[in-house]
Amino acid sequence: MSEATTDKKPVNAPNRQYTMERTRNIGIAAHIDAGKTTTTERILFYTGLIHKIGDVDDGNTVTDWMEQERERGITITSAAVTCFWTQKCAKAGEDAVYKAFNNLPNRINIIDTPGHVDFTAEVERSMRVLDGAVAVFCGVAGVQPQSETVWRQATKYKVPRIAFVNKMDRTGANFENALSDMRKKLNAYAYPILLPFGQGPTEAEGKAVEGGFEGVIDLINQKLIYWGPTEANEGLNYEIREIPEADKERANQGLEELIEAVSNKDDEIAELVIEGKPVSAPVLKAAIRRLTCKIELVPVLCGSAFKKKGVQTLLDAVIDYLPSPLDVPGAEGLEPGTENVVHVETDDNNKFCSLAFKLWTDPYAGKLVFFRVYSGQLKKGDTIYNPRTRKRERVSRLMIIQGSERKDVDHVYAGDIAALVGLRNITTGDTLCNEDYDVTLEPPSFPEPVISMAVEPKTKQDRDKMGEGLQRLAEEDPTFRCFTNEETSQLIIAGMGELHLEIIVDRLKREFKVDATTGAPQIAYRETITKEAEGEGKYIRQSGGRGQYGHACVKIYPNEKGKGIEIRNEIVGGAIPKEYIPPTINGIEEACKSGVYAGFQVIDMIVEITDGSFHEVDSNELAFKMAGIFALKDAFKTAGPILLEPLMKVEVTTPDEYQGDLLGDINRRRGTIIGIDAKGGQTILNAHVPLAEMFGYATAIRSLSKGRASYSMEPLTFEQVPNSVLSVILEAAGKKPAARS
Ligand code: GDP
Repeated sequence: MSEATTDKKPVNAPNRQYTMERTRNIGIAAHIDAGKTTTTERILFYTGLIHKIGDVDDGNTVTDWMEQERERGITITSAAVTCFWTQKCAKAGEDAVYKAFNNLPNRINIIDTPGHVDFTAEVERSMRVLDGAVAVFCGVAGVQPQSETVWRQATKYKVPRIAFVNKMDRTGANFENALSDMRKKLNAYAYPILLPFGQGPTEAEGKAVEGGFEGVIDLINQKLIYWGPTEANEGLNYEIREIPEADKERANQGLEELIEAVSNKDDEIAELVIEGKPVSAPVLKAAIRRLTCKIELVPVLCGSAFKKKGVQTLLDAVIDYLPSPLDVPGAEGLEPGTENVVHVETDDNNKFCSLAFKLWTDPYAGKLVFFRVYSGQLKKGDTIYNPRTRKRERVSRLMIIQGSERKDVDHVYAGDIAALVGLRNITTGDTLCNEDYDVTLEPPSFPEPVISMAVEPKTKQDRDKMGEGLQRLAEEDPTFRCFTNEETSQLIIAGMGELHLEIIVDRLKREFKVDATTGAPQIAYRETITKEAEGEGKYIRQSGGRGQYGHACVKIYPNEKGKGIEIRNEIVGGAIPKEYIPPTINGIEEACKSGVYAGFQVIDMIVEITDGSFHEVDSNELAFKMAGIFALKDAFKTAGPILLEPLMKVEVTTPDEYQGDLLGDINRRRGTIIGIDAKGGQTILNAHVPLAEMFGYATAIRSLSKGRASYSMEPLTFEQVPNSVLSVILEAAGKKPAARS
């Protein structure tokens, strides 16, 4: 791992301060409450970014910028924070080259991964931009159901991990239990590199006192890293001591087990072991690093973030074992408009290519776009190209976030994470690259919203502010939409789930100071037709004075799934004069938006305007708009209209014994089982279930599996609503069920 020994062509630009070998892009993944926020805080403290440690319980943290996150205790948005770390802990017996390398500062970018299942798209995007992760577990609770979900996501995205067993100071903390949980429940090849020196009193001892956890035994260097029995104060660091006699045996045994575990998977260590040669610390570390990067081994550490013990050793391990951008395969993209895969080499000397993974409206700096550079370099003043919009933009300002400070930088390089300021036409998931390097890293398609809700501003001023706020939020988050229901003039927000919309309303209140009331969440049903039909619409008022005259005829056909609404003007000979075609189209579009059959948006239909008539004096735009609306409504009635509902792809992971009950429950929810697989001692059920039946599923799955099963879901497609439930929906929408009319 020494920089001096690489014989490959240099990939680092000569002027960069932190080479790629000394860059880490990491996420901290954890179950809610395991201590992710506290651990991040402590990291920022020890890397010198914050001077006074902010405790979560005081509601004063750096990464949780949004107030409601603090209140809810969940982290929804990924902010990226940059910090710098020079390794400090025990390095006895290590050779000179290794030591020299380790004494250089490293740059660590921490990407905040959302821990809540509702935000799958965001979790997936943040997993994609990080190279490695620290999985934080609670030393008392061990592996909780939610940690299983996060773990599986990291596995799916091939993210190498180290594990940090936190809260070792608490009553009932048990390192051995947490470790065996990781092996059993996560099927992880997990081996400690540190052992706790003392841990929180056991519950059986019934002691109320805490503080039994005093330090960690560094197995590789066979030293004790000691903080002491009380909470380490802010200035106090550890001492490196010899391992006390009483603990020597378990320290020795721990090292032997570690070497054996590594030798099972690594040839170099296996050879040394077979030949009976000693395995030196740097050689063992390098092997652990190789295996960790290949996701074949999970090094396990422990500590107490809250009591400030074990954070420095965690930072050292991030540098020692987690991959640099060079240790992971480069990004893959597509040549726009084709299926040709482009491999993006991680190299400063290549053309610039990056992914905008998060938009953030900062109260001071304005709109920030967090991006990860996959290749090349970017300087202030350069021009970047967005393959989605086919537009160029000039980079006027670049910055990194260091704790609560925003720091301007002039130059960013491959493997780095930074923020762009002041870009206009950009959305989450966009690729930003050189104009002559046309590649798209993430397909720019986002799922259709499946749930909607009316929002009502409290005052007229609120209405204006609300419009602006909603527009900004929609820019940040491509899975969120807002529009006005023309029939009721209500503002409607639509998104991927109930919690998604709740958060939006909360942000409106806090960030844009808009007071709004909300309606109940509604399933975003859609309407479409099944056969061809014709219709006619007239809007004629000619009794005295200036009248109204609009008249249009249309023909409608079903369109291919996903093709949306296509409106064609087939008028020949001026039956409707040219200037009245746009208002007629407008009327048709409006009718499609507000729905005809049951008040839901119409999709996948072709409309042809075929005929009509006009009046020299009385015709006007409004009359033709109305004629368009009426003609479409008329045709729709006889075109075999149907209602479509969002169908979700649901993945349930459960221990075997609950499989039967969970399957029965999915059947009752009109679900279709697609597959049942066994993986890592768990059963994985894949099913398609209508969203309308998924309300309350989180509670149901918890009680059916005693909290052991977990699930994730994402929108799949829209499917016809079966007759058995149609009448209920129509009735709720205020329309008479078709069957009874
Ligand atoms: P998150 O939800 O994973 O971000 O967890 P937090 O960092 O917000 O921590 C949840 C709770 O656990 C807070 O009350 C913390 O003070 C507490 N906590 C975090 N780390 C430790 C620890 O090492 N020891 C103890 N005793 N409590 C901790």
